[in-house]
Amino acid sequence: MKTMEIYAENSYIKECEAQIVSINGNLVVFDRTIFYPVGGGQSSDKGFIKQGDKIYEVINVKKGDGEIIHELDHPLRDTQQACIMHIDWSWRFQNMRYHTLLHVISGYMYQHYNALATSSQIEKDYARLELAFSSEIIEDIPLEQLEQSLKNLLAQSHNVHTKTISRREVEQKEGTIKTIINLLPASLSEIRIVKIDDIDEQACGGTHVNNTIEIGDFSIIKIQNKGATKKRLKIQLL
Ligand SMILES: [Zn+2]
Repeated sequence: MKTMEIYAENSYIKECEAQIVSINGNLVVFDRTIFYPVGGGQSSDKGFIKQGDKIYEVINVKKGDGEIIHELDHPLRDTQQACIMHIDWSWRFQNMRYHTLLHVISGYMYQHYNALATSSQIEKDYARLELAFSSEIIEDIPLEQLEQSLKNLLAQSHNVHTKTISRREVEQKEGTIKTIINLLPASLSEIRIVKIDDIDEQACGGTHVNNTIEIGDFSIIKIQNKGATKKRLKIQLL
């Protein structure tokens, strides 16, 4: 049974009730979840599950075959009773801010340098973004100038929109999304699209803020060359 992904529909839900679907030792599958599973360059949510007056810490969350598997610090005592989920909101919100900022930077780099984001990773207190350029990089990108341009862009508020559309509809689109869609498994017929006004449009299953104003201040720590056509950006929220 596919787990209902509440975090994808509304990233701001911090608490919810869920029914147990299956248990295997410390591993539990629920009918629904607010816990984001590790993936897409983002680590899983932290938090805890309450069953009656017992509390179980959620150590890890993974996706497997449509099911979302929660690893608890010890096995659930009762296999029937509904549970209340609580996510660590400060951890999640920081991830949402980083993740949305990575979308903004990817979109900006595509529009201004024709660069494609090839991978990203959000760590505890920074994020990195790998960019592939269409030809050999001759000029350096001045760090302060890039940072200022991004801050100017984010000085205005931009809404983040999410919708699920058919693969065929996505394939007809132009721009970065068309390139990236080829990398997604052919079995995927429905695709979740995340659009930030005219800045960025990508297929993404992650958690985002509703408006770019929520990202807050940030700085670009480093721009590193990675071979002739690649660069790595290191970014930190302030
Ligand atoms: Zn995303």
